[in-house]
Amino acid sequence: MNDPAVEKRRSLPMLGARALVPKRASAGPPPRSVRVSVTDRCDFACTYCRPSRNDGYADGRLMTPAWKTMFEALRRAGVRRVRLTGGEPLVHPEIVAIVAHLSSLGFEDLALTTNASQLARLARPLRDAGLHRVNVSIDTLDPVRFREVTRGGDLDAVLAGIDAAIEAGFSPIKLNTVVLRGVNDDELERILLWAWERGLLPRFLEVMPIAEGAKLVAEHLVTAAEMRRALAAHLLAEEAVTDPGLGPAKYVRARHDPGLRVGFITGTSDTFCETCDRLRVSSTGVLRPCLATDDGVDAGAPARAGDAETIVEHIGLAWSMKPDGTVWKGCTEETAAGVSMRAIGG
Ligand code: SAM
Repeated sequence: MNDPAVEKRRSLPMLGARALVPKRASAGPPPRSVRVSVTDRCDFACTYCRPSRNDGYADGRLMTPAWKTMFEALRRAGVRRVRLTGGEPLVHPEIVAIVAHLSSLGFEDLALTTNASQLARLARPLRDAGLHRVNVSIDTLDPVRFREVTRGGDLDAVLAGIDAAIEAGFSPIKLNTVVLRGVNDDELERILLWAWERGLLPRFLEVMPIAEGAKLVAEHLVTAAEMRRALAAHLLAEEAVTDPGLGPAKYVRARHDPGLRVGFITGTSDTFCETCDRLRVSSTGVLRPCLATDDGVDAGAPARAGDAETIVEHIGLAWSMKPDGTVWKGCTEETAAGVSMRAIGG
C-alpha cells in the first residue's frame, strides 16, 4: 500500500534541484524570520543584481488579498519577524496598506529594506502604519557613480528619503553598502563618517555570487577583512560580533565612541549558512528555504484561494528543505547565478 504521507508530498508543488542539495538532518524549530519579496519590480537596476532595466518581470505576482492570506499563514506557522523587500517594496502601490495589515497581525518585528527612492513621501505613512524598522541600500555618495551603479537612480531622492526616515523617528536606520573594487571601495571612510554623523548604522556587504553578482565576484569582490583594514583607524581592534537574532552582520565599535558601530556582512568570504534561520517568500508566492537555490514550495495557488491552512503545511515542507550549510550556500555556484534576486527578495 502507498504511504499517504509520501503520496501527499508527491502531490505538493515542489520546485528546484532538491536532489543536489544536502538538507539539514532536522529542520529544527519552525522558521521565526521571513523575508518577503512583495514585488520583483524595481525602479533601479543595480549592476550586481539585474542585467538591465528591461530584463522583464516574473509572471504571477501575488496581489494584495493573496499577500494577506500568506501573512496570516506565516503568523500561524510561528513566524515572529518579517522583513519586506523586493524588488523595491516601495514601488508597490499598496505598500502602506500591506504594512498596516502586517502590523495588525502582531509580528514582533516588522522591517523593510528599500533603496529609499520613494521614502521621502512614504516614511511617515509607513511609520504611522506600524513599520518598526527600515534599512536603506546606498552604495555611493557620489551622484554620478550612483546613477551608474543603479542604472539611472537619483542620489538626491535617496538622501531626501533617508532624512525623511530620520524625521519620522525610525531608529536605528541601517545602511547597506555593497562594496565593489574599482567602483566604490575608495568611499568606505566617507560613507562610514557620513553615516555616523547622522546617527545611521553603516553596514558594508561583500558582493555575493548571486544573480548578476556572479559575474562580478572574481574582479570586484572586496572581502570584509580588507574593508576592516581600510577602516582600521576608526575602529576598535576587537572581534566583530553579531547582534543575536538580528541577522548575519558582524559589528565592530568605533574607536572614538564605542556607542557607534559598523557592520560587515561576509556573504562570500565566510558564509553563515549553518546559522541561517530564514525562510523567503518570492514575489509569486514560492516559499524558499535558501536565497541561492531555486528550491521551494509554490504556495501561490493557496494564497490566491485564501487557503491559509494549506500554506501553513507548505511552510513546514519548505522548511524541511533547508540546506545543511555544508555546501556553499547549500547549493552550487551555478544555481546561485541563475536565481532572480529581486523575485526571491534580497
Ligand atoms: N530594493 C531594495 C533595496 O535596494 O534595498 C530591496 C531589494 S535589494 C535586492 C536588497 C539588498 O540586496 C540590497 O542591499 C542590495 O544591495 C543587496 N544585493 C543585491 N544583489 C546583491 C549581491 N549580488 N551581493 C550582495 N548584495 C546584493
